[in-house]
Amino acid sequence: MTTDILVIGTGISGLTFAIKVAEESPEISLTLISKGDINEGNTRYAQGGIAVVRNLKKDSTEKHIKDTMIAGDGTCNSKVVKFVVEEANKRLDELIKWGTAFDKKEEQLDLGIEGGHSEKRIVHYKDQTGKQIQEVLTAKVKSFSNITILENHTLVDLITDHHSRSKMNRCYGAYIISQEEEEIIKIGAKITILSTGGAGSLYAYTTNPTVATGDGLGAAYRAKVQMDGLPFVQFHPTALRDKIEQNVFLITEAVRGEGGKLRNSLQERFMLKIDSRGELAPRDIVAREIQKQIEKQKENFVLLDGSEISEKRWKSHFPTIYNTCKSIGIFLPKDPIPVVPAAHYFCGGIIVNHQSESSLKGLYAIGECSATGLHGANRLASNSLLEALVFSHRAAIDCIKSLNQNLPSKSFYDKLPEWNGYDYSKNTTIQNVQVLREQLQQIMTKYVGIFKTDNGLERAEKKINNIYLKVQKLYHENKLTNGLCELRNMVSIAYLLTKQAQEIKVNKGVFYNQNYAR
Ligand SMILES: Cc1cc2nc3c(=O)[nH]c(=O)nc-3n(C[C@H](O)[C@H](O)[C@H](O)COP(=O)(O)OP(=O)(O)OC[C@H]3O[C@@H](n4cnc5c(N)ncnc54)[C@H](O)[C@@H]3O)c2cc1C
Repeated sequence: MTTDILVIGTGISGLTFAIKVAEESPEISLTLISKGDINEGNTRYAQGGIAVVRNLKKDSTEKHIKDTMIAGDGTCNSKVVKFVVEEANKRLDELIKWGTAFDKKEEQLDLGIEGGHSEKRIVHYKDQTGKQIQEVLTAKVKSFSNITILENHTLVDLITDHHSRSKMNRCYGAYIISQEEEEIIKIGAKITILSTGGAGSLYAYTTNPTVATGDGLGAAYRAKVQMDGLPFVQFHPTALRDKIEQNVFLITEAVRGEGGKLRNSLQERFMLKIDSRGELAPRDIVAREIQKQIEKQKENFVLLDGSEISEKRWKSHFPTIYNTCKSIGIFLPKDPIPVVPAAHYFCGGIIVNHQSESSLKGLYAIGECSATGLHGANRLASNSLLEALVFSHRAAIDCIKSLNQNLPSKSFYDKLPEWNGYDYSKNTTIQNVQVLREQLQQIMTKYVGIFKTDNGLERAEKKINNIYLKVQKLYHENKLTNGLCELRNMVSIAYLLTKQAQEIKVNKGVFYNQNYAR
C-alpha cells in the first residue's frame, strides 16, 4: 500500500493535521491509522481544557508567555512559547468553526483557571473538553474522500534507509500490524506523521488509557531519531484512587481552580505552608508535596475537599467526576475525594523544528510524542492541546509544500521490502508479556517516579536491562503480538528515559533527584 501521507495516531494532533491537509489539498492522499478505536487515546480524556488568552481586558499574551516560562523553570524555548501563545486564538476559532462546543457565560466563552496560570484563560466544555474535541474532529475527518482510516492497526517500525538500502536519511512509511487480517503490512509514504501520544503506561498509576505505551517513541528510537527530555514526566497531583478497582481517574485541576482544597489525614491544608499559590501552585510542586504527605501518614492518599463547590456546580461543570465518584460511594460535595499523584504527561519526546519535522527527513512528530520546546522541563496546565493544534497547523502547511518538492517516485515506495520478520498473531500466544509489563511499571514507579536518587536510577537501569533482554528473546522467538509490540517499545523508552535521567544533575521542573535537592 502506498499513500502520500501516513498519519499514525488519531488524537487531536493526527486528526487536526489530516483535516488541515485534506481541506487545503484534496489531491493529496492521506492514510490514518489508530491502534484501537479511532477515538481511544489521551485526547478524549482531557478534562480541563485549552489555554487561550481571550479576555483582553484582564489577560494578555505576555502573561500567558510568562506563566508558561515560569512553569518550565527556565527551560522552555522562548521563540516557541511566543508563537504558540500568539497563534492560539486562530487555532481555537478554527476548532469552534468545525463545530466544537465550549461552555459560555453571557454569550462569552466561560474561562476557567488552573495551576500556574495567573489569569482565567482555560476554554472548556464541562469536564469533557477532550471528548467533545475528539468526537467533532473524528466526524469531520470522516467527511473527506481523500482520507482512508484504518482502525485496529498498530505501528511496528518505521521504514528507513536501513530497509530501503538508500542513503537519503528519510522515512519512507511504516510496517503496520493489521489486527483483523492478522498480518504485517507495509505502507509506503512520502511523509510519515507520528501522532502516537504519550507513554503513561510505563508507570503503575497513570491517568492515561492503556494505549499510551510510547509506541511512536519506541519506533523513532529504533530509527535513530533524536529525542530529548524523556525524564520530564509530569505527574498529575490529583487522581482519584478507586480503592476497590485500584484504577485511577483524573480529577481535573479546574476543581482546585473552583475552590477545591487539599488536606492531609490531620485535616491540614498543607499546600499553604509550601507555596503562596496553595493548591494552584504548578503541578510538580503539588504532586511532590502530596507524595511527601502520603509517605508521612498512614493513609496512602490525601483528600481533595470540594465542599466549597455547590452540588449544582459539580453537576453542571464536572458531571463525569460527579458521576464517577457517586458510582463508588463518594457523594459530592459532602465527601472528600481520596487522591494520589499519577503519571500524566510526557513533556519530552521526539525533537522537532518549528514545523514539527524530526531529525529524520519526511518524519514529523506532533502532539504529546514530540518535544517542541514549549514545555521544557514542565508543562503548564492546558498547554498541550494548544501545542497540538498549533503544531498540526504548521506541520500541515510544511508537508503540503514539501510534497511539491523532488521526492522519490511511486515505484520507489512500491519496491520497498515487505516486513522481514515473524508474522503477527493474537495476544494470547505469549503469556509472560503482561507479567513483564507489570514488573517494568513497578520498577519505573519505584525508582524513576516523582522522587529519584542516583542509586535508584542505577538499580533501575540494571533491572530494565534484564527485562529488555527477556523481551528481545521473546521478540526473536515468537510471532509478533500487539502486547509484545507495546512491551518492546515500553522497555526501550524506559531504558532511554532512565539513561537520560542519570545525566541530569540539576533538578528542573518536574524532574526531582533527591541527591541534587536544593
Ligand atoms: C486524563 C487526561 C486529562 C488531560 N487533560 C488535559 C487538559 O485539560 N488540557 C490539555 O491541554 N491537555 C490535557 N491532557 C493531555 C492531552 O490530552 C494530551 O497530551 C493530548 O490529547 C495528546 O494528543 P495526541 O494527539 O498527541 O495523542 P493521543 O490523543 O494520545 O492519541 C494517540 C493516538 O495514537 C495512536 N497510537 C498509539 N500507538 C500506536 C501504534 N503503535 N499504532 C497505531 N496507532 C497508535 C492511538 O491509537 C491514538 O489514536 C490530558 C491527558 C489525560 C490523559
